[in-house]
Amino acid sequence: MITVENLRYSYGDEPVLDGISLTLDDEWAVLTGANGSGKTTLIRQFNGLLEPDSGAVRVDGTPVEDDPVAARTAVGMVFQSPRSQFVAATVEADVAFGPENLGLDHAEIDRRVDEALAAVNLDGRGEERIEALSGGEQARLAIAGALAMEPDHLVLDEPFNGLDWPAQRSVLGHLDDLAAEGVGIAVVTHDLRDLRLRADRVIGLSDGRIAFDLPPEEATERLPETDVRVPDGW
Ligand code: ADP
Repeated sequence: MITVENLRYSYGDEPVLDGISLTLDDEWAVLTGANGSGKTTLIRQFNGLLEPDSGAVRVDGTPVEDDPVAARTAVGMVFQSPRSQFVAATVEADVAFGPENLGLDHAEIDRRVDEALAAVNLDGRGEERIEALSGGEQARLAIAGALAMEPDHLVLDEPFNGLDWPAQRSVLGHLDDLAAEGVGIAVVTHDLRDLRLRADRVIGLSDGRIAFDLPPEEATERLPETDVRVPDGW
């Protein structure tokens, strides 16, 4: 469980998060809001990439700054532009990197890499060079890298950017499987297509505050105040 309590954060003297309180459990949450509303800044606190100026972020009850490794193990992050997230040249080496850093033994690392690649339909592709993969394959690889940590939560920042429709559907299908296994999913996105039936909650951020936190059907009329387009058929 990720618990955020009255979180405030500024870059220099520019306040960006202005008293956020939020609990994320094993549900499917969508975090939305205009560009610059603070979504990325918020999720970067979930695993200690940024630390609060005041307030607290806890993962399973422990403040993130007290045990960042535990937070990074429990909360998998998939950032925008996966290209910048890769640390190795080949598919398998990249997915193995996280588990290797946990100090797991080789058999366990191999098992996790195999399962993570299979989960995103990249099994058998471990030797391939990442730069030769398509954008959709790279997006799925970034998810595999997070999955290999076997996180309780998976947080994805604009995972559909740059993906064509089949690739987006494929990513959504994998997220469905994970959600069914009890992994909490948090998707930061402007693109709410196909999320209405999946999301348990839609959390709207506006100027560094939570404007609303509602089930999708109740969020509809609030979306315009966060400058988010209500998709056709929503
Ligand atoms: P969102 O993800 O909702 O687009 P961000 O969290 O990326 O919002 O940004 C919130 C605000 O913080 C914006 O005004 C942005 O310009 C500013 N910001 C983001 N990252 C930095 C940074 N590294 N240094 C200074 N300002 C930043």
